[in-house]
Amino acid sequence: MIKDKRIRFITIFAVFYIMVAFLWWTVLLNRKNHELKVAEKEALYLKTSPLLGEVAFLETPQYLALKKKHEGQTNMILGEGIFLFLGLLWGMWIIFKSFRKEIDLNNQQRNFLLSITHELKSPISSIQLVLDTFRKRKLDEKQTEALALSASNENERLNELVNNLLLSAKLESTYEPFYENVNLQTILEDVTSKLKLRFPKATFNYENLEMPTLMGDKQGIRSVFNNLLENAAKYSTVQPVIQIKNSVQNDKFVFEIIDNGAGILPHEKNKIFEKFYRVGSEDTRSAKGTGLGLYIVNQIIKAHKGTIQVLDNEPKGTIFKIIFPRL
Ligand code: ADP
Repeated sequence: MIKDKRIRFITIFAVFYIMVAFLWWTVLLNRKNHELKVAEKEALYLKTSPLLGEVAFLETPQYLALKKKHEGQTNMILGEGIFLFLGLLWGMWIIFKSFRKEIDLNNQQRNFLLSITHELKSPISSIQLVLDTFRKRKLDEKQTEALALSASNENERLNELVNNLLLSAKLESTYEPFYENVNLQTILEDVTSKLKLRFPKATFNYENLEMPTLMGDKQGIRSVFNNLLENAAKYSTVQPVIQIKNSVQNDKFVFEIIDNGAGILPHEKNKIFEKFYRVGSEDTRSAKGTGLGLYIVNQIIKAHKGTIQVLDNEPKGTIFKIIFPRL
């Protein structure tokens, strides 16, 4: 960190020095041009019209040509100076911007490694603990059932995480939706019943709605709803209430996932779809995650030629609005 700061300080100092030196050279060049003009004027005066006097000399065609030449040179020096200075400034700004992007990506990747290690280790340890308990203790049926359920939940979490990792690797290279009829009702029942086990206090309200059958990639669509619904439960209050709305508008399917959680600040709304991006810092975040979920959601929706929007819910919370074309 200290090394980073030192490099930043040296770079800013070097850029500042180059800018000032550049301005200084422009001023010097202009001054030299002026001195040259004075010298040439004196030489011309002595050569052509010492007898005419100063006033008449200033009207001679030779002097007027000399004056014009030097004025042109002054304009050229100033014009090119300003142009190059602005060009330099623009170039520096571009370099700084890509520098900043690189640093952000590095930090995000470091955070990703930290969180993925935790995300992988904690279910593995929990499952190991359950297996050890089974091995060492005699348990009654109820205890066995409870422990088996907890191991199954952890296994499910691990499974979703591995799916996300595989999908994000695929999205980088070869992902093409494999179009088939996708029964959303079945997918949502499956996803929400599994999430209910992990978030027992969460309510998912969609039961009364007739979900449509969509043409799309089954695994991809499942991942979209799984990630959005998991986030809705994960980033919500003690008692998450999550609504899933759907409607058909002309040639579009519209879905809304609405939660009563913490909400997302306006300046974060675009960033959350970037790979590895997580709001806040690793020290202040309580909810665990990898920053891959919304990246995957966005890429899959794009591959289906759909769109996703983040809106504010009233009085609090977030709405993710998805639009899929009706194929
Ligand atoms: P992860 O959940 O693994 O951190 P995501 O890509 O799914 O990664 O989400 C990126 C960030 O967007 C999260 O870190 C979180 O801060 C924010 N976010 C996503 N969904 C919600 C939501 N429903 N409510 C509030 N914040 C959210």
